Amino acid sequence: MKVHQFDAVIVGAGGAGLMAALYAVKGGANVAVVSKLYPTRSHTGTAQGGIGAALGNLEEDSPLWHAYDTVKGGDWLSDQNAAKVLAEEAIDAVIELEHMGLPFDRTEDGRISQRRFGGHTSDFGKKPVRRACHAADRTGHMILQTLYQQCIKHNVNFFDEFHVVDVIINKGAVVGCVAVELGTGEIHVFHSKATLFATGGWGRVWSVTSNAHSLTGDGAAITYRRGIPVQDMEFYQFHPTGIYKLGILITEGVRGEGGVLINGRGERFMERYAPNIKDLASRDVISRSIYLEIREGRGIKGKDYVYLDVTPETVNRYLAEAGESRRIDRDYVESKLPDILDFCRTYLGVDPVREPMPIQPTAHYSMGGIPTNVNAEAVIDEDWTVIPGLYAAGEVACVSCHGANRLGTNSLVDLVVFGRRGGMAIADYVKHADFVPLPANPSAEVESELNRIRSSTGKTRPGEIRQQMQRAMMDGVGVFREESGMKAALDCIYELKERFNNDLSIDDKGMKFNTDLLEAWELGCLLDIAELTTISALERKESRGAHSREDYKERDDANWMVHTLVEHQDGIGASLRAGVKPRINLNKRVDTSLSDVDERFAPKVRTY
Ligand SMILES: Cc1cc2nc3c(=O)[nH]c(=O)nc-3n(C[C@H](O)[C@H](O)[C@H](O)COP(=O)(O)OP(=O)(O)OC[C@H]3O[C@@H](n4cnc5c(N)ncnc54)[C@H](O)[C@@H]3O)c2cc1C
Repeated sequence: MKVHQFDAVIVGAGGAGLMAALYAVKGGANVAVVSKLYPTRSHTGTAQGGIGAALGNLEEDSPLWHAYDTVKGGDWLSDQNAAKVLAEEAIDAVIELEHMGLPFDRTEDGRISQRRFGGHTSDFGKKPVRRACHAADRTGHMILQTLYQQCIKHNVNFFDEFHVVDVIINKGAVVGCVAVELGTGEIHVFHSKATLFATGGWGRVWSVTSNAHSLTGDGAAITYRRGIPVQDMEFYQFHPTGIYKLGILITEGVRGEGGVLINGRGERFMERYAPNIKDLASRDVISRSIYLEIREGRGIKGKDYVYLDVTPETVNRYLAEAGESRRIDRDYVESKLPDILDFCRTYLGVDPVREPMPIQPTAHYSMGGIPTNVNAEAVIDEDWTVIPGLYAAGEVACVSCHGANRLGTNSLVDLVVFGRRGGMAIADYVKHADFVPLPANPSAEVESELNRIRSSTGKTRPGEIRQQMQRAMMDGVGVFREESGMKAALDCIYELKERFNNDLSIDDKGMKFNTDLLEAWELGCLLDIAELTTISALERKESRGAHSREDYKERDDANWMVHTLVEHQDGIGASLRAGVKPRINLNKRVDTSLSDVDERFAPKVRTY
């Protein structure tokens, strides 16, 4: 076992982790970034459509309208203080990225170009507004490369292909983490004053997903096991447009550029569900509409998909119908959506400038995660009590600006705004905090779990368990939910957990590059996340945002303006024992600080 000591350890090298590392270093801290992937392979690099900021470069916009759209899109469960910070600091964060050298698309007069996106409106919902700043359809790639270069320039220490498997808690504080070095199998203990989790999401819980194979919810599972709660796990977003069967994402930017959804009868069906904003309604609304069309037999050829059409002929027809003067041609589509065209041509044999793309909803984004305040400090209860030394930012965190449903482009904003705040908070904290000593044998428990998996001699392959879990979650805890389906999914998860703990088998018993071992360990995280998602979803007896229950169809503001906290029975510092059931705490109220001064921010029925 090797022990390293740094003021701050950042787990994860996506947009949130790199931004936090950069700001912690600039603030004078000695920082290590520990990442299971080589940094530029993080999922942030696949983000396509854009990053939202009310720059107002093409038409009038304001951060207050951005905050309003965020809260409304979140179906009023957003913590409004966080939504306000997000919208206000987005502007500065985007300009900062520009100054770091990020090659944004430009307007004719040289400013950052902006396009439409779902749920982005001006004047409190009156009409669509151009707010999404973009670098073609590879915005996330540009952000990740830009931030990585900056981190290298500022001497951040990188531990690439180090897989974090545990968080260390001593005397009520987080004092570091334990990692496996992929290349050698060696155990490393990172001793730190501050640890920030930026490990991204967990789309791999479901069978059709836009998420990379690595998105297995490690950060939330690791901290949950040691007694840090997770928040709002029932809110998981299905993006409406994934490539049929493959789940690969087709950005909302396609609809932002004028693309439309078409059913098996050739109808633009969103006119029925969202008469004003149509194909640019928020994602939960569109995913449900697609499911309803399919359920009523109006999928393409009666099957379970619909079309997304961005051919210039179709787009221009609808632009003309709407009285807009703008027209597009094939060159324009090629220049604005090059990666999307490439995906469809490569994986589907479909050329989107000539024919429509077959799409279906795909598991995409976790609104829930490790609860934090607006400084990315982890909080452990309804009184917002901070646990010293623990921070979280990005998709794994739940600062809850996104509430029950995230708006397109708001995740990239979340990464840079709250990653930056986390980095600054850490730089301040480590200046005055001392190192809390490591406990005796800090890696013993997790090593014994890894050894159990490595030497397992049961009959069940991890791949079998994974597939069954993904199917159960897709069927029972997907776009639509009801009690019996969720209970069936939960029974299945408990049975699979039992097999994971007592009947597992893996092939590779070695130390070097043992991806068999680490993928099996990741499966354990997925099972925990699936369990936490399902029990949270069963508990919330209403429909809100991405959580849509057929047995409780209405949103219930009187009873449910609360966050769902799920906690380990044994509390902070719990030991890693299998089979402990979580408990639910529903006492954390939603922050309504904007609605206290402006009644437009009070919950209303959503209309589009
Ligand atoms: C296809 C796609 C397109 C998207 N498009 C957009 C968009 O246009 N606009 C938008 O706002 N949002 C978009 N999103 C969402 C957004 O990209 C993600 O929410 C965001 O990038 C997550 O960033 P992150 O920094 O939290 O984590 P990630 O970028 O996912 O990075 C996670 C990091 O954690 C590390 N890690 C994980 N587990 C461990 C472990 N156990 N030990 C060590 N390291 C670990 C990984 O190595 C990685 O470096 C998109 C998402 C997808 C999947």
